[in-house]
Formats: sequence, C-alpha cells, structure tokens
Amino acid sequence: MNIDLAINHGSKILKNKLISNSILDSEILMAKAINKDRSFVLINSNNLLTKNDLNRFYNLIQQRALGNPVAYLTNKKFFWNSEFFVSNDTLIPRPDTELIIENVLKLTKQKNNMNILDIGVGSGCILLSILKERVNFYGTGIDISNKCLNISKLNAIKLKVSSKLKLYKTDVDKFNLGKYDLIVSNPPYIKRSKLKYLDKDVAEFEPRLALDGGLDGLSEIRKVIKKSSELIKKNGKFILEIGFDQKNKVINLLKREGFYINSTSKDLASNDRCIVSTKI
Ligand code: GLN
Repeated sequence: MNIDLAINHGSKILKNKLISNSILDSEILMAKAINKDRSFVLINSNNLLTKNDLNRFYNLIQQRALGNPVAYLTNKKFFWNSEFFVSNDTLIPRPDTELIIENVLKLTKQKNNMNILDIGVGSGCILLSILKERVNFYGTGIDISNKCLNISKLNAIKLKVSSKLKLYKTDVDKFNLGKYDLIVSNPPYIKRSKLKYLDKDVAEFEPRLALDGGLDGLSEIRKVIKKSSELIKKNGKFILEIGFDQKNKVINLLKREGFYINSTSKDLASNDRCIVSTKI
C-alpha cells in the first residue's frame, strides 16, 4: 500500500469515530509511523510502505480513534515559537495560553534582568517561551509533579535556556524562596463536577492534576494568588490564566490580596482567559 491510500484509510477510521481533523491527524500519524515530517509524507505520497510501517501507522490510528491526543502520540506540541516535548504527564500546551506570553512581551519591552516565577510549570511552555524571547531574564518553575519537572528540564535543554532556569518540586503553599518581578501561572481551574463534561480527549487523557480546580474551580487559583502576593516584589506583575466564567471572582480575590487590575484578555473563542495585575 502507498502512503496516500493508507492516509485516506486512516482518516476514514478517525472520521467514523467523529474525530474532527481526521485527515490532518492521519497525515501527522503517518509521519510519526515512518519517522519523517509531514511535508515528506505529502511530497512522497506514492511511496510504498513496508509491513512494519503500516503496522506502526494503524497502531497510532487505533490509539487516536480511542481519543488519545495527537500531541501525546507524537510527544510534540508547538507553542509560541518552539516545539515542546510533551507526555501524558503534562497538559498539552494550548493556543489560548499564548495570551500570557503576548502580555508578558508587551509589558517587558524595556526590561532587563527580570526574575520570573511560573507556578505549576508543567511542560515549561510558558516560562521557557519567555526565557527564549528575553535573553536577560531568569526563571524559576515550581510543580508538584516530578515528571513534569523532568519534562520542563528536557525542554529547557532543547530550547537552550537551561542555564537561566531553576526548578523545584513543591506545593505552592510551601514555596518561600526568592522575590519575583513577574509571576505567571496557568493553574488547574476546572470545577471538579465539570471535569467529566470536557472533550473526551481532555477528560480521559490529560492529567487531572493539571485540570482539577476543586469544588468551585477556584481552589488552586486561591492558593496561587495568596502565595504570589507574598513572593512578588512591590510593583511586580502577575499574569494568570483563568476559566471562562471566573473573571469577576478572580478580580475580587486579586484585589483582596493587594493587586491592582491592569487588564483582562479574551481567548480565540472570545472567553475571558487572562488577567494582568500589579502588586501595590
Ligand atoms: N484550558 C484547559 C481546558 O479547558 C484547562 C486548563 C487549566 O485548567 N488550567 O481544557
């Protein structure tokens, strides 16, 4: 069988399972199966596949058909300007989270030597993207998952920013090291009772630890805000990702901890997704 036929067949299998980008997914999984990139697959669509290639391909298609996200099957996800290694221990970086990077870059055009903290660093996509954009910035990432910290470390090496990065395994409550000019965080903020209604790919495959915001969805956000108000320098900026219906509640929490609200930004679906504030 040639590449083109196999991709079509794979895409039909995915389409039957109501996977929305079935052709694209099938192409990417073919590239993974034959260890080439997607452009090779498209240019060489008449190439014949070996039995092993086909077995690998159909195995990936089967996993995708069950809902396993492409990013976990390929261990890759592009975010901002870089490709990140991801595994099912980390949340898959989302385009919405790039709002944090956009806001950071806007706020730090003239700045040198900033000390940044990322609470719940995960794959490292937020912190490492900032460190790559701003050569004189230093980063600290904390997470309760050792596996995430290992992945952040690996990504920092890939992006050549590891000399500017420190990582700590700790609960946010227990972290008391340093004072920061800028704190960023994308904490878990989904209401526990809503977790089961997320897309199947998310609910069944992404780490609960990175999604579960407790009974009201704000348990982790509360901890992050409280600790940030202690760890941030006066006039330091705090940039937080939030759930689509959490803006007013989070603004109140921030004000109570001594933050001035600078702006809020909406994601690609026009949901409130990011709050920029300043410690006063
Ligand atoms: N935006 C993610 C989702 O809706 C949730 C991320 C988070 O809880 N921080 O799947």
